[in-house]
Amino acid sequence: MTSHADPASATVHGGPDLPQERRLVTGIPGPRSVELHQRKQQAVSSAVGTVLPVYAVAAGGGVVVDVDGNSLIDFGSGIAVTTVGNSHPGVVAAVTDQVAAFTHTCFMVTPYDGYVAVAERLNALTPGDHEKRTALFNSGAEAVENAVKIARSHTGRQAVVVFDHAYHGRTNLTMAMTAKNMPYKHGFGPFAGEVYRAPLSYPFRDGGRDGADAAAQAIEVIEKQVGATNLAAVVIEPILGEGGFVVPASGFLAAIAAWCRANGVVFVADEVQTGVARTGALFACEHEGVVPDLIVTAKGLAGGMPLSAVTGHAEIMDAPHTGGLGGTYGGNPVACAAALAVLEAVAADGLVERARAIEATMLPRLRALQQADPRIGDVRGRGAMIAIELVRPGTTEPDAALTAQLAAAAHADGLIVLTCGTWGNVLRFLPPLAIPDHLLEEGLDVLERIFAASR
Ligand SMILES: *Cc1c(COP(=O)(O)O)cnc(C)c1O
Repeated sequence: MTSHADPASATVHGGPDLPQERRLVTGIPGPRSVELHQRKQQAVSSAVGTVLPVYAVAAGGGVVVDVDGNSLIDFGSGIAVTTVGNSHPGVVAAVTDQVAAFTHTCFMVTPYDGYVAVAERLNALTPGDHEKRTALFNSGAEAVENAVKIARSHTGRQAVVVFDHAYHGRTNLTMAMTAKNMPYKHGFGPFAGEVYRAPLSYPFRDGGRDGADAAAQAIEVIEKQVGATNLAAVVIEPILGEGGFVVPASGFLAAIAAWCRANGVVFVADEVQTGVARTGALFACEHEGVVPDLIVTAKGLAGGMPLSAVTGHAEIMDAPHTGGLGGTYGGNPVACAAALAVLEAVAADGLVERARAIEATMLPRLRALQQADPRIGDVRGRGAMIAIELVRPGTTEPDAALTAQLAAAAHADGLIVLTCGTWGNVLRFLPPLAIPDHLLEEGLDVLERIFAASR
């Protein structure tokens, strides 16, 4: 066993130098993971679930190594977070330097350069060449909440429109904005008011309705049920995350954004999951030529350090009173150092192109699998954000049991995959963009094998 995988070694290093191999030396989970999981069950609230109870000791490139020495192919990236690769050398160096300099002063007390530099980078990199400002927070949900606060302050209006199948987080306001009851909302109400839901373009389930037509339907619901003059913001994921990696029909986003502009409504793109090169563009809005008023980023932004941002038009971002936005940890210096290193790595490592290359490898192989397997209703996604929707053959009836069975089989075979979707019938793939080609292909081999074995 290599020292990298040995949990007893004094220092366990992750990053791209980890052996890039799928290696199973025990059953999944192995005995040390089982032992840790028993401790977890005694110590951690059972409400905090785990997809795959193998306990990690190192990760990097395209693998996660566990306490038993198993090396799993990573098609999850910790839910689209380690886009540049786990423990990317640039991130490790930047974080190490910053930790040694200072860990916290609170930007609202004595500020520091890293926060300003992240704001400058996001202002420059996000779509549109208008004057922009950024505010930093800790989590995706916190940033979505702040985008709503900013939009309300700017417009003097209260209502917020979100869409079917949306996921925006687990705080009180974002639970209201999230569509799915179980597990995100069940028993946790009452929820924040003035949140309204409009129909989404979902090509696989709406008969392939075109984007303009689907947008017209959504706009009619908004106008009749909310009223444009009551509406502060429309918040939408350009490609849905937890809701099933739904890619709205072309033109849908642009038509909604145009309607917002014409009605003084703030158009907010929740790019928490899609942002920072994940979809083969720096931001998923770019695929649709849409320039959002505000854009929310988080997951892929800081290589695993907790950091989120709201970026947008200076006059909207500057609307709240001074002191109205903030938080103790928002824009923590260590997280900012990580984000600067991530944004540098995205450019230096050519990660936008890498995401496109991953799509070019994955989509044809998954579509070939679909040709041979009528349980695969849809294969969709962009860049390194690709999914399979599973149904009963010849119908659109969701097959959640099959999805769970296939995910478990992938895990047992050393491939980390996640599920999603309102009906729990979507297998989603989010490999780190640092995954080497041979592991990407091997992960797809595993998928082909488990699909064949389940027939
Ligand atoms: C994950 C996610 C969030 C919430 O982010 P947290 O950091 O978990 O609070 C919000 N929106 C989208 C689209 C997400 O994928």
